[in-house]
Amino acid sequence: MQELIEAGLREMGLPAAPGAALARYGQLLLEQNQVMNLTAITEPTAVAQLHMLDCAALLNAADFTQKTVLDVGTGAGFPGLVLKLCQPDIRLTLLDSLDKRIQWLAQTAPALGAENVVCVHGRAEDLALQSAYREQYDIVTSRAVADLRVLAELCLPFLRVGGVFLAMKGRDSSPEVNRADRAISLLGGRLQTAYTYEIPGTDVTHKIIRVEKVRSTPERYPRRFAKIKKNPL
Ligand code: SAM
Repeated sequence: MQELIEAGLREMGLPAAPGAALARYGQLLLEQNQVMNLTAITEPTAVAQLHMLDCAALLNAADFTQKTVLDVGTGAGFPGLVLKLCQPDIRLTLLDSLDKRIQWLAQTAPALGAENVVCVHGRAEDLALQSAYREQYDIVTSRAVADLRVLAELCLPFLRVGGVFLAMKGRDSSPEVNRADRAISLLGGRLQTAYTYEIPGTDVTHKIIRVEKVRSTPERYPRRFAKIKKNPL
């Protein structure tokens, strides 16, 4: 796994040095996946490409240097923990509503040498109403959590004005992005140009939707999850 990851990182113009830690992360993920559902991807090559390299591509979509970063619906740490292993100077918070995954991440991050990663169990729509989390982050990331209209309401309240929300989506996400335009604007965001990339060693093309926070999010958002789902903005 390590060589594949290192080659992929180089191909993306990123330093190859984190390859060893990312490969170890992949091994721990596959081991733990035998006893806990962490990922549907079980083949080491696919883990290297579709988890590690896919997530590392975010580093080309924004400047993460010394940023406070929140990963919403991180699951087994994607993309957040990959970012931290590639760029250790970020101040990272991993958030998920499934406690078992958060507990595994709280053990795994330090075992991989990722220091001071804050692992939070909770629902985004609840935490975003708390002052300790609301409008506190420079960058919010999210992959494979919800449709962008819903995701925008879960994620934009966490961003400080001037921060950026990075949503990892598929190549054909334009209709989803168009549908989310109104929600993004109501929540204080403004769409920027998306970043499109091909995952090295594959023919998979993905897109990173970039949303800049230009105004504070009105206090009434996020709403309760049932309401967000039933009646997306
Ligand atoms: N981001 C990871 C990835 O790309 O592999 C995990 C994706 S998984 C399909 C979605 C994750 O989002 C799950 O771990 C789930 O528990 C979490 N999730 C869904 N809704 C959430 C919410 N409202 N707040 C926090 N976590 C949520």
